[in-house]
Parts: sequence; C-alpha cells; structure tokens
Amino acid sequence: MAVCFLSASAQEEQTVITFQAGKFTVSVLSEGGGMRNSDLLRGATPEQLQKYLPDGTFPLETQVFLVRTPDKNILIDTGHGKNLFKNLQTLGLDENKIQTILLTHLHGDHIGGMLREGKATFPDAEVYLAKKEYDYWLNLGERGTAARNVFDVYKDKIHLFEPVEPEKQAKDLIPGVKAIAAYGHTPGHTAYLIQSDDAKWLIWGDLTHAMPVQMPCPQVAMSFDVNADDAVRSRQKLLAYILENNIIAGGMHVPFPAVGYISKGKTEGYAFAPMCFCEGI
Ligand SMILES: [Zn+2]
Repeated sequence: MAVCFLSASAQEEQTVITFQAGKFTVSVLSEGGGMRNSDLLRGATPEQLQKYLPDGTFPLETQVFLVRTPDKNILIDTGHGKNLFKNLQTLGLDENKIQTILLTHLHGDHIGGMLREGKATFPDAEVYLAKKEYDYWLNLGERGTAARNVFDVYKDKIHLFEPVEPEKQAKDLIPGVKAIAAYGHTPGHTAYLIQSDDAKWLIWGDLTHAMPVQMPCPQVAMSFDVNADDAVRSRQKLLAYILENNIIAGGMHVPFPAVGYISKGKTEGYAFAPMCFCEGI
C-alpha cells in the first residue's frame, strides 16, 4: 500500500503529522486531550475492564484531518477550534485556503472551529454533512443551538447527502471521497473513505472513543452514543470492512498519530497498530 510519511511538527501542544496517500496528502492535526474514566463506558464486563483498562482510565484525544488533493484542501471536522489554526499555519495554510469541510457529526468537539465571534471561520468552504445529521440537530431544541448556528451562518454553502453502506459501489461525494454510513454515535454519523491510486483511507469520526477496550471489544459503547446498539453495529461492520479490504484507518479520538492498521486481535476482536512515524522512509 502506498503510504509515505512526509513530515511532523510538535511544539508543546501543537502537533501535526502528514502522510502521502496516492496523489493526496493526509495530515492529522491534534487538538490535544487527556485521560478519561472508564465509567463513561457502557456494556463492558468487569473482566474486560480489568484486562484492558487496569487503572480504570483511557486516553481520549481529539484530531482534525486535512486532506489535500491536487484541486482542494479538505478539512474533515474542525475539532474544538483550539490548536487548529496554529496547526494549519504550520502547513502554510490559513482559513481562506480551505475549500471543503466534511463533517462526521455535529458534536461540539467536531464543529468547534466552524465559527468565530458568530462568523464563518472558513468563508470559502463548502460544507458537507448527512441529511439525517442535519435533521437531528435541527429538531433537538436547546441542545442543538450550536449546530443550528453553524447551519445559519453557512446556509448557502451547506450540502446534504445520504451516506452509503461501505460495500456499495457508490458515486464519490466529491472526487476521491465517499461518504459511508456509520450511524449510532449520532443518527447521521458519517465516515469518509478517501481513495487516490491504490491508497485507501477510512477516516471514521467517532467510531471509537476508548481504543484500548473498543478494539478488542467493539461491543462496548460510550455513554454519549445517541444509540449505543447502532453504534456497536456500525463499529463491528466497519472494522470488519477495513480488515477485509486492507484499508488504513484514522479516527478523531484515536490517540496521535491517529492513523494505522487493523488486524485481528490476539484473543478477541481487533487490534490497532499506529502508523509508524518513520514509515516509508
Ligand atoms: Zn467526538
């Protein structure tokens, strides 16, 4: 598989890493993170917790992905909007150079960079999200306010679509990118399949939050999944698909560098091997 590490930069909290993927580059822009308590998990047995999270905590970071194609600079989510702008600067980009934003879902840690003082942070960006996700937040009352502010400000630039099951030979949403259904964490939660030449990456949004336990035990859910049963089904389905098709995986809450390879777990479920910083060199 054509993967080549290009560059990395890390100064205090600011961290960026870039990989080549066919004719595209994929950068991971860290928004930082910390340890979270296992009481956020749902459906884990005491034995699983003891085995995979012996100190009762797991790392939860937030990442933004930037895909640069020959024609466009594409952000996948915008994180908290905390380190994002400094990280873009590191790559020689500013907000005006982002032409496309793909949203996995509308939780605050994914749309935090969309607005600044009530105005569009990315004035030239076309914004894509699943119609189901749009409808959910539109009708959510008070808790949907932040999402609806984004809808109002970007209104003419919002494109709604219906994600597809991964095995369907669907048309690209935009050249080189397909939108894949990953419902459950939120009703319209979407993963994005990026393809250039023989390089295939699935940026899976919030398919996982607690990697040390949800990889071997994908049936373990999170307290903030809107529909935990659907979230578990999506996780099981997409992990199997990634393994079968030898796809590189990346996730918004996978610890930095947040991209890597899936294999079968030693005793159960799956295992995740982060992509080596020196890969391809
Ligand atoms: Zn999230």
